[in-house]
Amino acid sequence: MPETMETASRRLLGRLRDVMAADAAGQTRLDRIVGLIAGSMGAEVCSIYLFRDADTLELCATEGLAAEAVHKTRMRLGEGLVGRVARTRQVINTADAPAERGFRYMPETGEERYSSFCGIPIQRLGDVMGVLVVQFRDARRLTADEIYALEVVAMVLAEMTELGAFTSDDGAIMARHQQPVLFRGATGQEGAAGGHVFLHEPRVVVTNPIAEDPQAELVRLQAAIDTLRVSVDEMLERSVSTAPDQVQVLEAYRMFANSKSWLRRMEEDIRGGLSAEAAVEKEQSLARSRLVEAGDAYLRDRLHDLDDLSNRLLRILTGQGSDTGADLPDNPVLVARNIGPGELLDYGRRLKGVVLEEGSVGSHAAIIARAWAIPLVIHARNITTEALNGDPILVDGDQGVVHLRPDETVKSAFADKLAMQTRAQERYASIRELPAETQCGRRIGLHMNAGLMADLPSLPSSGAEGVGLFRTELQFLIRNQMPKRAELSALYARVMDAAGGKRVAFRTLDIGSDKVLTYMKPQDEPNPAMGWRAIRVGLEKPGVLRMQLQALIRAANGRALTVMFPFIAQMEEFRAARAEFDKAMERERILGHPLPAKVEVGAMLETPSLAFAPDLFFQEVDFLSIGGNDLKQFFFAADRENERVRKRYDTLNLSFLTLIEQIARRCDAAGTPLSFCGEDAGRPIEAVCFAALGVRMLSMRPASIGPVKHLLRRVNLDDLRDVIEAARQRGDQSVRGAVSDWLRGQT
Ligand code: PEP
Ligand code: MG
Repeated sequence: MPETMETASRRLLGRLRDVMAADAAGQTRLDRIVGLIAGSMGAEVCSIYLFRDADTLELCATEGLAAEAVHKTRMRLGEGLVGRVARTRQVINTADAPAERGFRYMPETGEERYSSFCGIPIQRLGDVMGVLVVQFRDARRLTADEIYALEVVAMVLAEMTELGAFTSDDGAIMARHQQPVLFRGATGQEGAAGGHVFLHEPRVVVTNPIAEDPQAELVRLQAAIDTLRVSVDEMLERSVSTAPDQVQVLEAYRMFANSKSWLRRMEEDIRGGLSAEAAVEKEQSLARSRLVEAGDAYLRDRLHDLDDLSNRLLRILTGQGSDTGADLPDNPVLVARNIGPGELLDYGRRLKGVVLEEGSVGSHAAIIARAWAIPLVIHARNITTEALNGDPILVDGDQGVVHLRPDETVKSAFADKLAMQTRAQERYASIRELPAETQCGRRIGLHMNAGLMADLPSLPSSGAEGVGLFRTELQFLIRNQMPKRAELSALYARVMDAAGGKRVAFRTLDIGSDKVLTYMKPQDEPNPAMGWRAIRVGLEKPGVLRMQLQALIRAANGRALTVMFPFIAQMEEFRAARAEFDKAMERERILGHPLPAKVEVGAMLETPSLAFAPDLFFQEVDFLSIGGNDLKQFFFAADRENERVRKRYDTLNLSFLTLIEQIARRCDAAGTPLSFCGEDAGRPIEAVCFAALGVRMLSMRPASIGPVKHLLRRVNLDDLRDVIEAARQRGDQSVRGAVSDWLRGQT
């Protein structure tokens, strides 16, 4: 190229803008663009391939290859050089294409005459939309400047594709974001729901990728960077006093905001003809594609920082705030990369379903979705780039599948599924008033888990006998400041009123791990799940625990009160917590407040160590509740939030069942009531196995009570115990196979 890189690219972009401005159909625009690029590069061939569906690329326009091949030549992701560019998001620049790994000759295009090949990914924010290719007859590699110019053009093509600029009326090129897309993720919570997408963080849309006046764009970029720096400085200043542990992280963040090379690259892009926002996006796209490759955790964190800063910068430049003011659509289905329990609670119960790109089954956000009885699909890769606010969406939590913009066939099959679900619920309603009495005459207490006032109406409708676990931290998570004692006491009193005399086991504050209170000093711990959490915080900084115990005693106002402490790992911790409770009772007595008529103080068994506590512990505690979610993760040393390892270990693994059985035996010997309140209690096969091993009370999400009761009423626990014993004798790893077979044989 005789001109400078920037002038050449700007000239090309200027012409591209004219093509865009002309009133023409999508295909015509594409045809003109390939002609224009080929002409300005002196290339014999320029072609644009766009995705037909998630794995197929289609030749959509060409200058130089056979015209008949347009909309005919297709290749799968990874296939041939074009497919490889799309899969790896890397440029291929070769003087001898046939010698290149993966080369595939496509006879219908007549490309055999061209020796050199340069393919550039058309990508936007790490999302590949197609491939731009130039080919020459001579054996030559493109210069770095030429590649730069093509990358800038590819960036603009990506923005134009996103905006639907190439859509054709005859459907030859489909508009992006209009086609149906199927996502295969994993089950976070069973159930099915249909509704409309609501994006937790809507994307910023860049409508002006090409700029006429680079000087003006440079000024805009500088002004936006200044604003960004001020806001990062302010964040840093605030955290020096409120969250000193975050300072180091924010320092790194500030370093990026001040990075000269970041700014310089964006300035180059602007001089090359891009608008300020398109320049930010180009750098962000680059960082995202590096993020996919990056194995090093430190590098990934820094690239995440850059991604976050770019988002902020884009919001400043476009004026599109993170809160775009979009109203929740009818039947909203929340779509997000990931979400914490506090943020999810902010949406309230209006949501019909949740779909996450990341997420995990054991997270507290999943537990909330479960409590709300809404389907949750996790690991739906790329859904936040595909979905638009308001898009129709069907969530199949049973299969872990999501249909975005479903077609009519899928819609009607889904409607059948929903109807079946309703019929099943009706069947369960018919046994609501009947006890969970097994064929061998044992009664199992079925209770529900709750944490919000809004959960309480489920108490009568589900047929639960009480609340076996009230997660008090949810009340703390939905606020942005520490609740006052009087507020808490009023709330707990309302919960007891709503329970109408049924037992409610209030678990004291269980924060830490993934339950982070924004208004409490964050802890920088290497492994928060095994760190400073739950009762450990309560005993070391007892202020909040004392306030909460006082609020509970006052709320009871003479009624029976049940309190349990989370995450007790050894007897002394229980004794210390109980002593706090006794002190709170004494204080209330002295103050002249009425004391509860009856008090039960229990512990949650969530660490293997407690199962081996002295007999005295089992005698002292008023009741025990197995927190299977945590117990399982520590028993198998498999993080409940890490999908990769979590799934390796079955709850019905005999080692785990043996632990449960031993706990049940020890409780029996001490005459101490035992319940199980982890998520597995709500899974029918797990529930009957726990009952067969001696657990007489199960606490679960309200929607599980029907299915669990239905199965319990069908089984003889003595026979089931024999099935488990036989599996143990055989040396089975898990009893799931044996128990499922046996259940199928039952009438
Ligand atoms: C558990 O660990 O099983 C439990 C019920 O507590 P959480 O899920 O709230 O940690
Ligand atoms: Mg727990």
